[in-house]
Amino acid sequence: MLIAGRCISLFAMSLSDEFWMEEALREAQRALALGEVPVGAVVVSEGRIVGRGCNRPLSTNDPTAHAEILALREAGTAIDNYRLLDCDLYVTVEPCPMCAGAITHARIRRLIYGAEDAKAGAVHSMLQLLNHPKLNHKVEVSSGVLAARCMHLVQSFFRERRSEGDNDR
Ligand SMILES: [Zn+2]
Repeated sequence: MLIAGRCISLFAMSLSDEFWMEEALREAQRALALGEVPVGAVVVSEGRIVGRGCNRPLSTNDPTAHAEILALREAGTAIDNYRLLDCDLYVTVEPCPMCAGAITHARIRRLIYGAEDAKAGAVHSMLQLLNHPKLNHKVEVSSGVLAARCMHLVQSFFRERRSEGDNDR
């Protein structure tokens, strides 16, 4: 019985992970429409979104305007606390070192991301900053949620940019 119950709750969790990742993908589409690298994030607390962010460093001339940072800022304002206790962050691509740092500062409970970022990912890929043994705060991490769609969005963006570059020549 216990095992069955655990299976059901894990199944329900992965279903809701996909549900919230769809919302993060919606934010990534917004970034794409702005001509930004299509990455999106949402912060979820007690079954509702308290912060959203779409990647926009180019359009704001702000190197810190990554989807995760903007979503964390909005969530902090919404819950009136810079510590985002009991909050989960969903993001379409593995966070970079800056965002991994912000996730730790915010005390995010769970990080759920879609695609790996081999070049800049600071969870598993390039660095393993999050959950570094010297950090006190531990974040539960799930990866690969709707990964193919998250990855496809970014790859098609860069493919298009490259082909535009070819046309310029
Ligand atoms: Zn980042």
